[in-house]
Amino acid sequence: MREIMAFAGSRHFHLNEVTEGIYAAVAVPGTGSLGNAAIVDLGDATLVVDTFTTIQAAEDLQAATEYLTGRKASYVINTHWHSDHTCGNQVFAPEAQIISTTTTREIMDTFVRNRITQQLANPEAIYKAIDELDEQIQRETNKKLRQEMQWDNASDREYMKMLPDLVYTLPNLTFDQHMTIHGSKRSVELITFGGGHTQSDALVYIPKDRMAIMGDLVLSKHQPVLMYANPQQWLDILDKVEQLDIKIIVPGHGEVCSLNALHQVRAYITDLLKIVTDAVQRNQSLDEIPVPSAYQDWFFTTYFKSNLQSIYEWIEKSGKS
Ligand SMILES: [Zn+2]
Repeated sequence: MREIMAFAGSRHFHLNEVTEGIYAAVAVPGTGSLGNAAIVDLGDATLVVDTFTTIQAAEDLQAATEYLTGRKASYVINTHWHSDHTCGNQVFAPEAQIISTTTTREIMDTFVRNRITQQLANPEAIYKAIDELDEQIQRETNKKLRQEMQWDNASDREYMKMLPDLVYTLPNLTFDQHMTIHGSKRSVELITFGGGHTQSDALVYIPKDRMAIMGDLVLSKHQPVLMYANPQQWLDILDKVEQLDIKIIVPGHGEVCSLNALHQVRAYITDLLKIVTDAVQRNQSLDEIPVPSAYQDWFFTTYFKSNLQSIYEWIEKSGKS
């Protein structure tokens, strides 16, 4: 029998067996993970979905994969280009086929690669921003917000510490709409309905288990992040996802959830579109708008202001006002 690498848990994530052979690796805030990942045993091969922010977190993910399924990952999918879903890729290559949509790979190869080059050339600027946020944290009186700011800064520090060792690794297999991986135990469908959260978002649909690993299209008890989003297309994508037969969702951030989380994300985006449209009509400053009470106990409070700003810019650009 092949010796299975020991796995004593990770400080970057906790494992949740969603159903036999499918595991969510749920990020621990303030570590090298940030986004969630997932491990899917296909029977004769193993799929890993998303690879965390740091090499160290991804190494733990590979160790967990080997421990849980008896083999390393044969396939990795990047649901979208964000660093907390892609920066651990190098741990899985070249043994694993790394898969994304064509658009996601293009963005990784251009925009993200350039950004990493700039970060490496001028790390002082980022460390300065981290120090400035530290001072802001000292002044913050809201306990929850303060905790979230501390997590943001801790994650950024882990990323910066890792950056010199990063060998930014691109997907080597791409698809434009749909791709199926056929396993002996279960098959998975990689699907994109275009871009909503980013310019291109993919999800992993597992019909046999009535579940989906959604990337950042669905978050659980976290405010969705709209920095690179097209809010209307995001809503359209959620309508299409709802046509699939899904009971359980592994979200991009937060704990494993039901389809209800998708409805909550839809409500959040719809509410923010209305809030910003109303503010524009009344000439009200976006800075004065508080987090709606329905979302006050969610995490990612630190994204609320930039979400309003992103929606404002999208409305201006698309002439929706
Ligand atoms: Zn994301």
